[in-house]
Amino acid sequence: MLRLPKFQYLHPKNVAEAVRMRADHGPEAMFVAGGTDLYPNMKRRQQTPTVVIGLAHLERLRTLKGTPKSGIVLGAGLTLTEVCENRRMQKAYPAVARAAELISTPLLRNMGTIGGNLLLDTRCNYYNQNYEWRKAIHFCMKKDGEICWVAPSSPRCWAVQSSDCVPVMVALEAKVKLVSAQGERVIPAADLYRDDGIEHITKQPEELLTEIHLPPTNGWRATYWKLRRRDSFDFPVLGVATWLRMAGDDTVEDVRVVLGGVGSQAIRATAAEQIVRGKKLTEETIEQAAAAAYPIAKPLDNTDFAMHWRKEMARYYVSGTLRELAGLPPKFPAGGAAGRA
Ligand SMILES: Cc1cc2nc3c(=O)[nH]c(=O)nc-3n(C[C@H](O)[C@H](O)[C@H](O)COP(=O)(O)OP(=O)(O)OC[C@H]3O[C@@H](n4cnc5c(N)ncnc54)[C@H](O)[C@@H]3O)c2cc1C
Ligand code: SF4
Repeated sequence: MLRLPKFQYLHPKNVAEAVRMRADHGPEAMFVAGGTDLYPNMKRRQQTPTVVIGLAHLERLRTLKGTPKSGIVLGAGLTLTEVCENRRMQKAYPAVARAAELISTPLLRNMGTIGGNLLLDTRCNYYNQNYEWRKAIHFCMKKDGEICWVAPSSPRCWAVQSSDCVPVMVALEAKVKLVSAQGERVIPAADLYRDDGIEHITKQPEELLTEIHLPPTNGWRATYWKLRRRDSFDFPVLGVATWLRMAGDDTVEDVRVVLGGVGSQAIRATAAEQIVRGKKLTEETIEQAAAAAYPIAKPLDNTDFAMHWRKEMARYYVSGTLRELAGLPPKFPAGGAAGRA
């Protein structure tokens, strides 16, 4: 059985105390919300804080404010269940509710939070192993070692962005509020991430994520498709979030297509977007856009499934999301559709 290392657990009364505790204890301390990512990582000695600052009980992080017309503000401490079972979310932001609902199992969704999901550690077959396993291969660059076993000549880590909600938040152009002892700032969700398997979050370690700001629902539509081995539960090995606004009935005014699970950060498929922007969503334009999304998916051999197949599936999933938003029938009910939302 894997055991947690010894650590001190702090129970702040409010957000101000939580950020002060983090400032006082420095890099030895980490925040924990549901703990469904941090505690397994601590058991595997991938993350080893000696001080853990609990957030789950902080009421300020548990609110859902606003309206679809003005935009909804999600507290970072809302559980995934609270997000996906919320009627307003299901109706006004079905892509967010759907991404949250596809995460893990009901038990873990009752514990895991939306904030923790946006800050999920990157994943890799050579990293998500216990300490002894990693020691046997002399560790790797992401923790305790020097080499990348996926790309041994690479100077960087290629661990994979594996959160279901991240591509959706980037596609929606959601914003996040970060609070520290120095003050607070609101930044686009896309700016929270960088293309590096180790330093994949731009947030300062002492900053607390308090809110996620969803944009007003003024006519756009969005969807999320997830590829995974088991529908019961599995991390995404490809996730496609597509956001679309039409001008009139059939011309695309604006579109955003974001690929998750195929790089160290979520990737905007801008070439695919350019193909459909200002055009009608026909069989032809959709297939052209899907073909343009395919080259930017660059999965490596460090998660489930053969990487070439995952890359190929990006084409089908982009096509599938666009077809769904255009109201066209799905083209490939077998295989690809098995893992879709
Ligand atoms: C078996 C299993 C299957 C899973 N499947 C999926 C899946 O399919 N898709 C998926 O996306 N995830 C999956 N997960 C990962 C995880 O359960 C979810 O991502 C969950 O939402 C994480 O939230 P949490 O509150 O538990 O995070 P925690 O473990 O509490 O925290 C995660 C990270 O975020 C930081 N953090 C948390 N909240 C804050 C905050 N408010 N401010 C600053 N830092 C913060 C922590 O310090 C830590 O670094 C799975 C996990 C398990 C164990
Ligand atoms: S991509 Fe390379 S460095 Fe990063 S976790 Fe995997 S093996 Fe380690």
